[in-house]
Amino acid sequence: MNLIIGGHVSFSKEEQLLGSVKEALSYGCNTFMCYTGAPQNTNRVPINDKATALARDLMKKSEINYRDIVVHAPYIINIANGVNKDTYYFSIKFLQAEIKRCEQLGINKIVVHPGSHVGQGYEKGMENIIKALNMIINKEQKVMICLEIMSGRGSECGCNFEQLKHIIDGVTYQDKVGVCLDTCHMHDGGYDLSNFDKVLTEFDNMIGLNKLAVIHINDSKNERGSKKDRHANIGFGNIGFENLINIMYHPKLKDVPKILETPYVDDSLKNIVYPPYKFEIAMIKKKKFNQSLYNDIRMYYQSKES
Ligand code: FE
Ligand code: FE
Ligand code: ZN
Repeated sequence: MNLIIGGHVSFSKEEQLLGSVKEALSYGCNTFMCYTGAPQNTNRVPINDKATALARDLMKKSEINYRDIVVHAPYIINIANGVNKDTYYFSIKFLQAEIKRCEQLGINKIVVHPGSHVGQGYEKGMENIIKALNMIINKEQKVMICLEIMSGRGSECGCNFEQLKHIIDGVTYQDKVGVCLDTCHMHDGGYDLSNFDKVLTEFDNMIGLNKLAVIHINDSKNERGSKKDRHANIGFGNIGFENLINIMYHPKLKDVPKILETPYVDDSLKNIVYPPYKFEIAMIKKKKFNQSLYNDIRMYYQSKES
């Protein structure tokens, strides 16, 4: 089975999507996810159509399918908190602008965190999210908003299938909304991923497999149900290599892009970190856990430096 797998790559001011494609290819990805600027802020440079055209040409010559690539909205926007009207309406406007940027980039999926109610209570938070989505989504848009399941840390909304379904049910143009499952968030939220068929059946019954648009593949640093949301490298956490392989190669998820958001590996001597994706993807393709992953990563990137 041909896996659609990639990592979270950067989107630089200069090369934009072209840079993202180059970075993804350097890891052996056949898809990728990027922000359209810094994830922690909302400063955005205009989309450079020339860079996008060059990215398209490069993708044509590679294994990457344009339709599989994904944008992630910056995580500081919050459409669940209606207390501060300025932030609430800013988030709505910003998401609309991000959708426009996706359209200009030719990318048709954007992952969005449902948000945190920060004290307003869960009911109100859900109401705010639905209201915001109905202001954001227009009938003509081509981009699908993929609501990411959260771990339940703090006052996060959208931490289980029921809550995601509740949001989708409230949206007028439901064909513009999908779901992004994140294995670390699900595990930290209490789902038992060692029994994935059961979990998937539950998802199918509640929301429908046709709504599953993206999967984030991460191991977890914490116990199941911890609600912590700290990602670990594949096979180095509490979900484990076998369970993650099982999910990635699940025949029902064949067409769903899988994106790694695993931690960079640090160099204990230098103040520097290395991307893990090239080596994680290699072991995923072999379906064999690599105990010396960290060493291999350090050796590879150190040899490139010298
Ligand atoms: Fe996310
Ligand atoms: Fe994620
Ligand atoms: Zn996370």
